[in-house]
Amino acid sequence: SAGREGYIEKTKTVCTYCGVGCSFEVWTKDRHILKIEPTHGPANGVSTCVKGKFGWEYTTSQDRLTSPLIREGERFREATWAEAIDLISSKMRQVKEEHGPDALAFVISSKGSNEESYLKQKLARQVIGTNNVDNCSRYCQSPATVGLWRTVGYGGDSGTIKDIEAARLVIGVGTNTAESHPVLATRVKRAHKLHGQELIVVDLREHEMATRADLFLRPKAGSDFVWMNAVSKLILDEGRAADAFLAEWVNGIDEFRDSIKDYTLEYAVRETGLSEAQLRDLADRIVRASDRSREGGVCVLWAMGVTQQMGGSETSTAISNLLLVTGNYMRTGTGAYPLRGHNNVQGVSDFGAMPDMMPGYQKLADQDVRDKFGAAWNCEMRPERGLDNTQMIDAANAGKLKLLYLTGEEMSLTDADSNHVAEGYGKLDFFIVQDVVFSNTAAYADVVLPASPALEKDGTFTSTERRIQRLYQALEPLEGSKPDWQIYQLIAQALGADWNYTHPGEIMAEAASLTPLFAGVSYERLEGYNSQCWPVDADGTDTPLLYTEGFHFPDKKARLYPAIYAPRVQTEDSEYDLHLNSGRMLEHLHEGNMTFRTPGIAALVPDAFVEVSPELAAERGVQDGSFVRLVSPFGAIKLRALVTKRVFGNQVFVPMNAQRAEDAVNHLTGQNRDINTNTPAYKDTSVRMEVLGEV
Ligand code: SF4
Repeated sequence: SAGREGYIEKTKTVCTYCGVGCSFEVWTKDRHILKIEPTHGPANGVSTCVKGKFGWEYTTSQDRLTSPLIREGERFREATWAEAIDLISSKMRQVKEEHGPDALAFVISSKGSNEESYLKQKLARQVIGTNNVDNCSRYCQSPATVGLWRTVGYGGDSGTIKDIEAARLVIGVGTNTAESHPVLATRVKRAHKLHGQELIVVDLREHEMATRADLFLRPKAGSDFVWMNAVSKLILDEGRAADAFLAEWVNGIDEFRDSIKDYTLEYAVRETGLSEAQLRDLADRIVRASDRSREGGVCVLWAMGVTQQMGGSETSTAISNLLLVTGNYMRTGTGAYPLRGHNNVQGVSDFGAMPDMMPGYQKLADQDVRDKFGAAWNCEMRPERGLDNTQMIDAANAGKLKLLYLTGEEMSLTDADSNHVAEGYGKLDFFIVQDVVFSNTAAYADVVLPASPALEKDGTFTSTERRIQRLYQALEPLEGSKPDWQIYQLIAQALGADWNYTHPGEIMAEAASLTPLFAGVSYERLEGYNSQCWPVDADGTDTPLLYTEGFHFPDKKARLYPAIYAPRVQTEDSEYDLHLNSGRMLEHLHEGNMTFRTPGIAALVPDAFVEVSPELAAERGVQDGSFVRLVSPFGAIKLRALVTKRVFGNQVFVPMNAQRAEDAVNHLTGQNRDINTNTPAYKDTSVRMEVLGEV
């Protein structure tokens, strides 16, 4: 809409950073971004954080790609779109003919829109014939999704962000919410300060939320599964479980009781390092807040501290089990909240960027699903699970994957074990990278395609609360770049597909027609600040509170799922004696390709660092601000030490955001993975520290 007519344009968009899904108006004049103005955002009201408010200068950065690039030896040369698309389509055809469709793989971006996710997986499945499609939820919340599928049926937050305010007790486990999901954290802080909401934080670091908490617990790394089961057992043994709720809504209580019989307080004290008094206190607080005769209850928020472990999905299952035992579902202010990282990491999975699922989590193993999509797309759908992100790199290293087409992910720095990733890239026959700027990953590519960022396109994003929201084009695509969906269409057409989408709304209409979860999603209903939380019925009724009349199983009953303990495998020893933790910082998102291109933000935190506890610094003679080298079995990085009480004992913390590729923490992480989802166990890493002494 025009503000001062013909002078300043105001366009509604959705933040391209974290999964909170703040929306706001962007004020532009020509190609200048004048300001970001939050007004009616359903998730954020009038709030934003520093990234949403100021982190948009990458859009107008000199670093934007403005032409396709084709590798010639060690260099790249500019090429026309026609030449680049011709080369890509002929390589895809050639690899498919020579090695079969599964020699190609497609990584889809969580910064891209829902429509773009849908279209790229359609390109892979319909046009190429492979299910090798995945996205970066493989690096973060795939384990949480499995835990929720097992127990309550849907892999999404139980309610809205606003609903969390109604909880009597919020437990944050392995989530640095104030820095990773700032506007959501603001709601929790407010409810805690003004409305008497109780806050428990369980984490390794004493971050801001931990300092505010009524109870801060710091169990041993990777042991959350044990305290959760011990607390569930204690509550059940003492007859304080939600018996009526369990009888009416939950299956599997006997098997569950049996599965946790060894999780005594004595065992939990040994395994977690928490005291018996702390465990009893935790159980008491949970039971008190779970009283179903009153409003609200317990919400558990969790993130990478839980999921990036060997047992990430098992611990996510244990969280949901604990919520079921205490009756904390099916009411506002209760339930499970895995907090999604990227702005659209929820949506990109929702719309089919998964190796075994079609849009809306329709299983490829289901013949009816394959028949439906096969008929709509006029192709043969294959039932076999494709490769996930981590398996793609393994397959590249094994010489089995020949062509990788990656959009918008800095995989060379964000996947674990960066050296293994780089070696895999080196073995590909052909590597296509599509991004807004020339990323570190693009340096390995054969063709680089210039994409347009969120402000330059229409589409929808889905936030952590399952909320689908419209973004509108605020700027014309920078000359030479194109929105991702248009690039996918050009490639599909070059391969002979009859695709003729003229607007993302048509893609959404097709996706909705094939996906019961989005049956009533449409651009008409999403107009402006309107939004819909899935599932959305055909008549447009959406579902802010996910479970109201039972759970997402045929009998409407949840399932207590006997999970198994998968402890850390790379424990500290005499050679690698420190535990390495990693995570986000407020100012930057992930590798930082966008935020480091906003000078004001980059200046706030220009370099990566390693947090060292005062006691470790004293023991090793580490000066604040001096350089140390961290060494793991997989690589080494040199960083400045920041001596801080946020970390304790022999734990060190390195942010995942690094301006220089050589500082990236994933040079240190290894090959351990969640036992169900292959999500890298980033948090299961041991290092040693060499004190370099320079300041
Ligand atoms: Fe909101 Fe997250 Fe964007 Fe910050 S980064 S403005 S909290 S969506």
